[in-house]
Amino acid sequence: MKHASPQPFEKAFPQTNHPDLPPSAASLINNRVITVEEAEQLIADSLETLPSETVSIEDALGRVLRETLRADRNAPPFNRSTFDGIALSYAAIEQGRSAFPITGTAFAGSPRLSLDDSNACVEIMTGAPLPDQADCVVKVEDLDIVDGTARIREGTPLDRGHGVHPEASDCQAGQVLLEPGCQLTAKELSIAASIGKAELLVSQIPRISIFTTGDELVPIAAQPLPHQIRRSNDLALDSALASTGYVQTRRFHILDDLKETESVIASILEQSDIIILAGGISKGKRDFLPEALETAGVSKSFQWVAQRPGKPLWFGDYTINDRKSYVFALPGNPVSCFTCLHRYVLPALDQLCGLPARAPQYAKLKSEFQFKPPITLFIPVLIEYDANGQTWAEPLPFNTSGDYISVARTQGFIELPQNETQFVSGSAHRFRPWQT
Ligand code: AMP
Ligand code: MG
Repeated sequence: MKHASPQPFEKAFPQTNHPDLPPSAASLINNRVITVEEAEQLIADSLETLPSETVSIEDALGRVLRETLRADRNAPPFNRSTFDGIALSYAAIEQGRSAFPITGTAFAGSPRLSLDDSNACVEIMTGAPLPDQADCVVKVEDLDIVDGTARIREGTPLDRGHGVHPEASDCQAGQVLLEPGCQLTAKELSIAASIGKAELLVSQIPRISIFTTGDELVPIAAQPLPHQIRRSNDLALDSALASTGYVQTRRFHILDDLKETESVIASILEQSDIIILAGGISKGKRDFLPEALETAGVSKSFQWVAQRPGKPLWFGDYTINDRKSYVFALPGNPVSCFTCLHRYVLPALDQLCGLPARAPQYAKLKSEFQFKPPITLFIPVLIEYDANGQTWAEPLPFNTSGDYISVARTQGFIELPQNETQFVSGSAHRFRPWQT
């Protein structure tokens, strides 16, 4: 097919047969302009967590845990020495003794020794089990060792338990260490490794398809004719997904042709958990996506959101073999497209994987701002951090939602709510960074 012929930068797109379509969902279609909050809620309500799978711990970095991890034994599993030095009975020090004959050496990795003579000591290495009867470790730096006897230097501060990391003081066997929904970074993997979890139950990786549409768009390496432009949205979307950890993506471009659009959508639905379409979703004469999505049997949830940029934002879902896929059709304008990805698609991907919502971030407006239309405004901002720990957002004046060049200077966008028109300097608003 013409649309699927791979461009140099495109990834392979395996074709399948047309899936069986579910009954028409036209009755569910709602053409109302909804609020940002309604859109967010409809998406959240529709999403079902992806199935889980078992993977080797070696392949689990960045994945979302779907099981509870408990300590398999006490940590530490024995009273361990925190210094290289000598282990002894503190009672002997209380009785005024300061010189101790050395009766053995306890190494890390060797079985526990016994301190049979309470007036003697055992040489001990960091990480070794404390001998039975010993309850104090004196550092080698605080000792003079001559002819097999260790003498404690005068004035060395000591106590019962000094230099001992007691058994079970970090956690007890059976204690919950990690809960489902946590993202496995280096520190979580270190815990999993320490309790012997060579395999972990994690969320499957979401399969993402990125489509762009438009006859005017040519590949990056092409020389555009005067009426053409190079396409950039697909690479921008893919890069933003990858930098958030969502790397299982395929992308390709569809011309403004109804049949071609229908054919590609039908072939991809079954193989994708999320389909991101960019462009062709508004009211233009060649905006074929709404019709093609309906023909494919994708159940529309909404198509218009009271926001700028990004009023044409189509969301729906499709179920085949008990597995749902979700379609986000974003406006083609680069800034609208990028903003809607961050505002709706990335949080949806997190939810799909079973991650809890990320902690909200806020920034204070650096200068007063007025905005009359009764819609939510997403405005790109330059961020500054001051010495009082405050985050300030300077709104960037930009030309249109096609002005992606100005936006490149910003760090993210703030969200100014629909029901206000006057935003005073110093007022705090939700900030969403371009990079998480
Ligand atoms: P549309 O939503 O299809 O009407 O597109 C709106 C604007 O975004 C048009 O000026 C398109 O040329 C532009 N646009 C759409 N898709 C892309 C893309 N992949 N890369 C760059 N610009 C695009
Ligand atoms: Mg278009």
